[in-house]
Amino acid sequence: MEKPAISNLPGTGSPAPGTGIYIHIPFCAAICNYCNFNRGLHDDGLRRRYVDALITDIRSWADLSRRSPEGAKADTIFFGGGTPSLLEPAEVARIIQACRESFELAPDSEITIEANPESSTPERLQGFRAAGANRLSFGVQSFRDEELRRLGRLHSSEAARGAVRAARAAGFDNVSLDLMMWLPGQSTSEWLTSVDALIDQQPDHASLYLLEIYPNAPLRDEMARAGWSVAPDEDAAAMYLEGLARLDRAGFEQYEISNVARPAARRSRHNLKYWQAGDWLAFGCGAHATFRGERWRTVSAATDYIDRIATGQDVRLDRRMLGAEERLEEVLFMGLRLTEGLDLSRLHCSHGIDIWTRYGPDLSTYVSAGLLVHEPGRRLALTRNGMLLANDVMSVFIGGAVR
Ligand code: SF4
Repeated sequence: MEKPAISNLPGTGSPAPGTGIYIHIPFCAAICNYCNFNRGLHDDGLRRRYVDALITDIRSWADLSRRSPEGAKADTIFFGGGTPSLLEPAEVARIIQACRESFELAPDSEITIEANPESSTPERLQGFRAAGANRLSFGVQSFRDEELRRLGRLHSSEAARGAVRAARAAGFDNVSLDLMMWLPGQSTSEWLTSVDALIDQQPDHASLYLLEIYPNAPLRDEMARAGWSVAPDEDAAAMYLEGLARLDRAGFEQYEISNVARPAARRSRHNLKYWQAGDWLAFGCGAHATFRGERWRTVSAATDYIDRIATGQDVRLDRRMLGAEERLEEVLFMGLRLTEGLDLSRLHCSHGIDIWTRYGPDLSTYVSAGLLVHEPGRRLALTRNGMLLANDVMSVFIGGAVR
């Protein structure tokens, strides 16, 4: 749902086992004034037809699964959006069942639903849990009502607290909360109020995203009218560092630039597939998949997706095999997002490349500046200060094939 991270460049370690299944639900009850995700207004009839199309699409993979049992093993499902919590629990149950019938779904699979507080009634959350979901990721964004109104969000901070209580009562023992920082008119102390309120909710996982306002976002006009501005860059850095410091003190462990979790077992197993160069399939409109070295995207519009599935046309576009250098670049970008960083000896085995020999001359200045940690032959990782400048550090890897 609401994603811009502190760095927008993509992330590795060892590939997570099993394939991930991403399911895109492109419907929202209202469109937030900063959003440029693939979404549209919710409509009951459209949603029902979309779910039918999704199930047909998922089932079409059952053939592949029969032909190639290895490709059929999956261990995460992630309902992202949009607002997946607008689905009826019976629809979630049908989609999960279609996945079970088409893939060999591990018994301990992580099944996440992204949820907005306003559509997370106790009955609905109980229904999601009964349908097989075992992880909820709430788009809270702020615990200050004034900020929520500025963003055009439909919920209040009290509704967010109520949703977390309802999630626990429904039996979810894995709950993640998203917050956004660097909001229009937000001071560092106001941001930290939200971080403290998040800690009070005792989630298992949290994501801190930086709000990036795209050029034509309605929020830009509202900012101009109301005279709101965003804090200077130094304040954004202070928000990030002090927010993470408070989460450290509360017992969370940072494992990725924008993500913290309580015990390691509460890290997002699905998202780790993106950061560890794993495989994932994607169903629904406007989604991206990477599977066995091949990448594709699906058609953008929900209606196009429904029509194509109904008439037996392919919904996958731009299918291509990733080149060796492209894969390596991604492994480096994505792996460096993780606090554990890059495993240099493993990369040497898997790609036949000594990363420090190739990139060391350009990276050493970042090591000297305290932005990178280099353990020769073992590990290369961003420090927390380095995470603030991750884009600069990672730019070293772009087009680094010949040096
Ligand atoms: S709820 Fe999320 S996906 Fe929907 S409009 Fe708002 S920011 Fe965009």
